Amino acid sequence: MPEKEIKDIGNSFFEEISKLSDERALYAVKVKYVGRNGILTKILKNLKNISSEQRKLIGPLANNLRQEIENAFEKRKKELSEQIDWEKEKLDVTLPGKKVEIGRLHPITSVYREIEKIFSSMGFEIVEGPELETDWYNFTSLNFPFDHPARDMQDTFWVKSPKEKMVLRTHTSPVQVRYMEKRKPPFRIIVPGRVYRNEATDAAHEHTLHQFEALVVGNDINVGNFKHIAKQFFSAFFGKNIDIRLRPSFFPFTEPSFEFDISCTVCGGKKCPSCKNAGWLEIGGAGMVNQNVFVSAGYPRNKYQGFAWGFGIERLAMMKYKIDDIRWFESGDLRFIKQF
Ligand SMILES: [Zn+2]
Repeated sequence: MPEKEIKDIGNSFFEEISKLSDERALYAVKVKYVGRNGILTKILKNLKNISSEQRKLIGPLANNLRQEIENAFEKRKKELSEQIDWEKEKLDVTLPGKKVEIGRLHPITSVYREIEKIFSSMGFEIVEGPELETDWYNFTSLNFPFDHPARDMQDTFWVKSPKEKMVLRTHTSPVQVRYMEKRKPPFRIIVPGRVYRNEATDAAHEHTLHQFEALVVGNDINVGNFKHIAKQFFSAFFGKNIDIRLRPSFFPFTEPSFEFDISCTVCGGKKCPSCKNAGWLEIGGAGMVNQNVFVSAGYPRNKYQGFAWGFGIERLAMMKYKIDDIRWFESGDLRFIKQF
């Protein structure tokens, strides 16, 4: 029966496309039925060869079916394009998560924090001051003679300013006078901060440095207090017993003045390549505050005593982390920072 034949064609088409989930396969099935040589197309083409009676019966059925096939094809195609591929989309909670990049502290920052922690525990106050200074605070108030070489263009960055000649501070000591102008002894402070030197850079020299300075002032302060506090600080910082050695020196703002060394952090004083077989490592400068500095700050002469000492944070960080070139600190190279 021709009607049954057409019905069967329709059924098998719908069965086939219901199983498909791929657009190309869907299109191939459509061609198989209504393409140029499709099963249904052949019947439609053959309509002109059959009797008009049968044509009246089969013609509308075949044409309807072709329309149904076209509609079903479009509908299925739309369904497929809207379907989410859950295989691809599903979340596998067992996969390792995306790694979050964690920032690191610059070694200078770490050393700063370590220093501040130790001194805070010893009752020191942390004080900061401006990096752009006047000649008065950077040099004159600290008893620098007018012909002192530190005032030379070769060592110092001078900055043009409408009012007066300014200087990028060459040390953190200006903060001593700024602080003492506002406070009366006794006190103990540390001054961490950035300082600048107008010099050529190499593995041991930088133009931008970090310094840290301590100032203790009272009525009966002496060099023994300095040695004791320095020993406590360095022993805490390096996590081992450290000895302090003083050598006579000269600084305008202290009298007497010392260079101070610490016992080698590698060999403990037994002599090794790290300390060039000296057993000691040069660290910084110190001394009893020159009375002229107290006078600059407005204190009466010879009423108070105090000691001041300072050193470079880069040098300390290089010793602690075994860094061989000071230029790494300002290099901005993340590979360097990620090591700490
Ligand atoms: Zn050594």
